[in-house]
Amino acid sequence: MLSIKNLHMKYGNNEVLKGIDLNVKSGEKIIIMGTSGSGKSTLLRCINHLEKASDGEMIFDGRHISLNNWKKDDIQYIRLNTSMVFQNYNLFAHKTALENITEGLIHVRNKSKKEAIEIAEAYLEKTGMLEWKNSYPSMMSGGQQQRVGIARALALKPKIIMFDEPTSALDPELVGDVLNVMRQVAEDGITMLVVTHEVAFAKDVADRIAILDKGVILEIGSPDEILKNPKNEKTQRFFSMLNY
Ligand code: ADP
Ligand code: MG
Repeated sequence: MLSIKNLHMKYGNNEVLKGIDLNVKSGEKIIIMGTSGSGKSTLLRCINHLEKASDGEMIFDGRHISLNNWKKDDIQYIRLNTSMVFQNYNLFAHKTALENITEGLIHVRNKSKKEAIEIAEAYLEKTGMLEWKNSYPSMMSGGQQQRVGIARALALKPKIIMFDEPTSALDPELVGDVLNVMRQVAEDGITMLVVTHEVAFAKDVADRIAILDKGVILEIGSPDEILKNPKNEKTQRFFSMLNY
């Protein structure tokens, strides 16, 4: 459903993605790991047009997109069919949990207010956050805010959902609830690209794990291949740093 070819990204003279090729099947869960600065966030951001790549092509759901030359309707299409969960939740501080979700449904998806509220409540229920629907982000823990972030992303019914280190900013005791919600999302069959260093989660959920290093995919394969028998010495070193 998503095929990326030869993706390059430069910030000034600094080339941070150096020719990424990645094919993602419909319903597939791909976990992306790699050291800090290896280009994981940039990769996700080039896919959903938060950044414009310097070069590369993408076929998304049959639509051919030049990653360095986005057309207006490509941008619109990606906006309608992808969503992202961020490390720092990115909730609107002055909106309640419910309003954080209805906002996009009303303004991006053109839903009526009534319908938007129904959808938002259903997804808050799904992430265990319905009781908090009238609360503001400052009243919630990081884990609760992230569960609202996930509800918001799901409510847009994307064809692919991307997570960028969704649990990295959380206190350790809050990580489990968020990962459980993500496991549930995975069971629903949606296509997922997840940047995370939660190895146990990756082992359970990933169809494939991709290891990114200095802007290239060092290796990609099943959790067994990557976690048990990493071929690349840098991958081995990476996992020993994670104490895995
Ligand atoms: P990761 O998510 O793997 O930690 P990033 O994709 O955030 O890595 O960053 C990859 C590289 O790109 C890093 O060297 C980072 O400093 C650089 N970079 C990221 N965003 C910007 C930006 N907006 N401007 C300039 N350089 C950036
Ligand atoms: Mg990052």
